[in-house]
Amino acid sequence: MDQFYLDNAALYESLVERAKPAPLARRPGQTADLAEANMIVAARIRPQLEEDLASGFPCAVYPRSDAGDVDDDDSGVVDIHDLGKPVLKSAKYEVDRLFGPEKTTEEIFDVHVKHLVPFAWNGGIGTLFAYGQTGSGKTFTVSRLEELVVDALVDLDPDSERQVSITIIELAGNAAFDLLNRRQPVSIMEDAKGVQQLVGAQECTVQEHADVQDLIERATAFRRSAPTLKNDDSSRSHSICRIRIQKHDGGGGKDGFLYLVDLAGSEGARDVAVHGADRMRETREINISLSVLKDCIRGRALADAMAEKAASRQQQGTGAIKKKQPPHIPFRQSALTKVLKHVFDPAGGRACKTAVIASWRTSGLSKNTLRYAEILRVTPPSSAAVATTAPASSTVAPASNTAASGVSTSSAKAVPNKSSPRVSAKPNSRDPDPDAASVPFRHRLRPGMVIRLKPSSSALLDGDDDVDTGSGSGSSGAPQLAVLLCPEMTSDVDSPDKARRARKAMQYVCASLVPAAGEACCYEMNLWEQFVVDSGMIDREVILEYNPETWYYYVYHIV
Ligand code: ADP
Repeated sequence: MDQFYLDNAALYESLVERAKPAPLARRPGQTADLAEANMIVAARIRPQLEEDLASGFPCAVYPRSDAGDVDDDDSGVVDIHDLGKPVLKSAKYEVDRLFGPEKTTEEIFDVHVKHLVPFAWNGGIGTLFAYGQTGSGKTFTVSRLEELVVDALVDLDPDSERQVSITIIELAGNAAFDLLNRRQPVSIMEDAKGVQQLVGAQECTVQEHADVQDLIERATAFRRSAPTLKNDDSSRSHSICRIRIQKHDGGGGKDGFLYLVDLAGSEGARDVAVHGADRMRETREINISLSVLKDCIRGRALADAMAEKAASRQQQGTGAIKKKQPPHIPFRQSALTKVLKHVFDPAGGRACKTAVIASWRTSGLSKNTLRYAEILRVTPPSSAAVATTAPASSTVAPASNTAASGVSTSSAKAVPNKSSPRVSAKPNSRDPDPDAASVPFRHRLRPGMVIRLKPSSSALLDGDDDVDTGSGSGSSGAPQLAVLLCPEMTSDVDSPDKARRARKAMQYVCASLVPAAGEACCYEMNLWEQFVVDSGMIDREVILEYNPETWYYYVYHIV
C-alpha cells in the first residue's frame, strides 16, 4: 500500500490541491466552553523530520484554519486524504484543539495545560495524557511539559508555602517500576481509605528547575524500550509522572495532584507483526489498557455531565429529578487506570480536570490516533441523539426474520443499504486487502476480524464456567459477536479437555461485542472481556462499522 502512494505521489498531490477544503468557523461559544471544560482533547501534529522528507512519502494531514477568528487559526479540524483507486478518499477529524507542526511545546502548555496548575494547587487533580503511535512525539511533548509544569508551580509559590514532590513510575503490563530508583518494583495497593498507594516508589522533593530536569533525565534513562518496526526506541510501557502538592503545615484540605502520563505507543498488530508471540501479547495488553483508559475517560466525563445536569435542575427546581444509573467506569480493569483511580472514580469526590494530547505524525496513514481522540471528546449523547443517529449511519441493515438460522432478528440477514456509498467513509472491520472478498473468510481469519458464533457455541460458552463471555453472550437473545484478537497458545491449556479441543481445532482469543443502546445491530466492544473459541464455532464473518457520533459499532454486512 505504501508503495502505491510512492508511485502515485504526483497524482496524489494534485488531487489534494484540488480538494483543499474551505476554512471552518468554530461554533459560537465553543472557545469559551473549552476554558470551563473538565475534559479537553487536543491533537498535536509533529513536524516532518529529515527522515520523513527523505522517504518521499506524501504528507497526508491538512489542518483546517478557522474562518471566524483571526487571532486563533485553530478550527480543531483536520482533513486526511487517502489515495484510493483511482480517487481521493478524504476524512475529517475534529478535536477541541489542533496544534499544527509549527506550534511549540511552550505554546501548547500555555493554551492546553497551564490551567491545570492552579487547579491542582488548590487541591484538585489535573491529568494530562499523551497518546499516539511510537515516534509521534509523545515523550518529546511530555518531558518538556513536566519541566514547564514544575516551573509554573515554583512560580506560584515564591515563599515555599507548599511542598512539591515528584514520583515517576513505569507500567509494563501489570508490573510497575520506579523510574527514579533504578527500576525497583512498585506495588499498586489500595489502603484502608480506598486510596491507591504506590508502595516502594520514591517521592523526590523539588525546589527549582534544575531538580526537575535531573529527575526527568534519570527517569528517561531507566525507561524500558524495545524495537518495533517503526522506531527502534519504541516505548512499550506507560510512564506516569505524579506531582503532589502538599501544604507544609499539613493543615486543612487535601493534597493536589498533577499526573502527566506518557502512554505506550498505540501500535497496530501490523507494526509488530514480525515479532514473536511475547511481543504480540505485549501489544495486546497495551491496546487493552488504552481501550480501558478510553472507557474510563468517557465514563468519568459522562458521570460529571450527569451530575452537573442534575445539580442545575435541582437549582432551577425544574420538576422531579429522575435518578439515572451512573455510567460504569471500569478503572479496576487495568493497572494504568487502577493507579489513576481517584481521577476516574466519582465516588472519591475529587474535582478533576483532564487534558489529552493525541500526537500525530504527518507521514503516516493510520488514523487510529485521531479516531481515538475523537471518541474521547464526550458530549454526552442524549438518548434522542442515539436513537436518531443510529439509523443515520446509513449502512445499518434492515431488520429481518432469521428464525431458520437460529439467531435473533435484526442483523442476521443484514445486507448493505443500497443507497449508501460503496466505500464507507466510516471506519469498519473489512479486510484491508481489496482482493480478500474472493477468499472464503475461514481461510483468512486474522486479528481484528469480527465473527458471529454459531448459536450452539454461544450456548456452550454461556454454560462454561471457565469462560468469561461477558454480558454480550448469546443469552441476551442477540447473536454473539466477537472480535478475533490472536491465536490462542495451546501450551497455555491447563486441562486435558481443553487440550483435546485445542488439538482438534485452531483456537483464538476473542474480545466480546455486547449489544448496546437497545438498538438493533448496535454493539459496543469490551476488549477486557475475553474468551477462547475454536475455529469450528465460527459461523460467519461480520463487517462492523464504527459510528464516531454515537461511539457504537453497527452491523454493516454479514459475509
Ligand atoms: P514517541 O514518544 O511518541 O515515541 P518521541 O517523543 O520519542 O516519540 O519523538 C520521536 C522523534 O521525533 C524524536 O527524535 C523527537 O525528538 C522528534 N520530535 C517529536 N516531536 C517533535 C517536535 N514537535 N519537533 C521536533 N522534533 C520532534
